Amino acid sequence: HNHIDHATVEKVEAAIAANDTHAHVPAYETFGDYTANGGYATLKDLRQTGDWEAVQDKVLSAGLRGLGGAGFPSGKKWGFVRMNEGPRYLAVNGDEGEPGTFKDRYYLERTPHLFLEGMLIAAWAVEAEKTFIYMRDEYPAVLTILKTEIAALEAAGIVEPGYIDLRRGAGAYICGEESAMIESIEGKRGEPRHRPPFVAQVGIFGRPTLVHNVETLYWVAKINREGPECLNSVEKNGRKGLRSYSVSGRVKSPGVHLLPAGSTILDVIEAAGGMLDGHVFKAYQPGGPSSGLLPAHMNDIPLDFDTLQPHGTFIGSAAVVVLSDQDSAKEAALNMLRFFEDESCGQCTPCRVGCEKAVKLMQAEKWDQELLEELSTVMVDASICGLGQAAPNPIRLTMKHFPEEV
Ligand code: SF4
Repeated sequence: HNHIDHATVEKVEAAIAANDTHAHVPAYETFGDYTANGGYATLKDLRQTGDWEAVQDKVLSAGLRGLGGAGFPSGKKWGFVRMNEGPRYLAVNGDEGEPGTFKDRYYLERTPHLFLEGMLIAAWAVEAEKTFIYMRDEYPAVLTILKTEIAALEAAGIVEPGYIDLRRGAGAYICGEESAMIESIEGKRGEPRHRPPFVAQVGIFGRPTLVHNVETLYWVAKINREGPECLNSVEKNGRKGLRSYSVSGRVKSPGVHLLPAGSTILDVIEAAGGMLDGHVFKAYQPGGPSSGLLPAHMNDIPLDFDTLQPHGTFIGSAAVVVLSDQDSAKEAALNMLRFFEDESCGQCTPCRVGCEKAVKLMQAEKWDQELLEELSTVMVDASICGLGQAAPNPIRLTMKHFPEEV
C-alpha cells in the first residue's frame, strides 16, 4: 500500500477542486428544458400584471396545505406574512431529515425549476426582499443541481445575483423545525424559538418570513401553470387532492408514490408493488417516526391531514414505513425514540431528559407502562417544540396496539 497512484491522486484533487466529490447528478430538467416548455412565463406574467390576491385565491381553492408536516393552508400563510410591514423574507425548508422522507429530493432531482418557479411566485406574492434555501447537506446532487440552476436564473436575468441564498444544513434534524432553521440561517445554534411571535411576524433577522417546504412550492408552480384543478379535481374517500407518499419498508417498490390524498395504507402498499414475498403486513408508520405505529387491521383510514388525529397520530410529511410479521413493533418504537434522543436539541428538560429516560425504560424486556405513560404526559405538556411533544406517540401507540410485545 505504499504505492502512490498519481493518476488517481490527480483525479481526486480535480474532483475536490470542482467541489463535486460525491455527487452523482442524475439527468434532470434543466433551465433550457424548462423554459422550452413554457417555464417562467407564468412568473413573468405575474410580475408584470399579476394580482397577488387572485393567486392566493387559486392556491386556497386548490386546497394546498404545507407539505413539510404541519399542514397549514399555504395561501393563508401568505396573508399573515403580508400583514406585517416589510422588508420581508422567504425561507425554504429543504432540510428533509425525517427518517423515511425523501419526496423533496425526488422532485428536486427531477424538476428543480418547478420548485424554483414556485418559490419565486411565492416570493413575489409576499414581496420578499430576499430568499433563502436551507438545503440538506446530505443531498450533494441536489446542491449541485441548485447551484447550477440558480446561476442559470441569474444569467437569464430572472433574479438578481444573490437574491436566492443557498444555505447548507449541517445535519441536525431539529433544523427542519422552522424557527430552529431560522436561527441556523442567522448563524446561531439551531434551537427552536418560543411562539408567539410567529415567524410570519418575527422571522429571519427579526423580519416577517414566509417559510415553505420544497414540495409545497413545487405545487404552487403547478397550480399557477395548470390551474387549481391539478389538485382539487382529485377526490377519494371524501378527501381532495394528492399526496406524495415516501414509501419504504417491506414493499416491492419503495419510493415516492403520488396518490389521492384519501388513500389508505392498502392503496399505498398496492402502489408500492405489494408486500415483499414471504412478508405479511403487520404494522405501519403513517407519517415519520413522530407518528408512531398503527396495526395492520387499521387499514381503512385515509392517510391525509386531520384524518389520523382521532387515532392519536398524524400524516406529517407522509413518510410511510411498512412493517411485516418479521419486524418487532417494540424494537421499531425503541428505534424511533433513539432517534429523538439523538436529535433532541437539548434546550428543554422534558425532551432532553425525557427521551433519554424513555429509551432506558423501553430497553427493558417488559415495559413499565405506567411510568412511560406518566413520562409521555410530561413530555407532551412541557416540551417547547414538536419534537418533544410528539416523541411519546410511538410509545403510546405501541402500548395501545401491540400490548403483547411490551
Ligand atoms: Fe429542543 Fe426537544 Fe425542547 Fe424541541 S422539545 S426545543 S428539540 S429539547
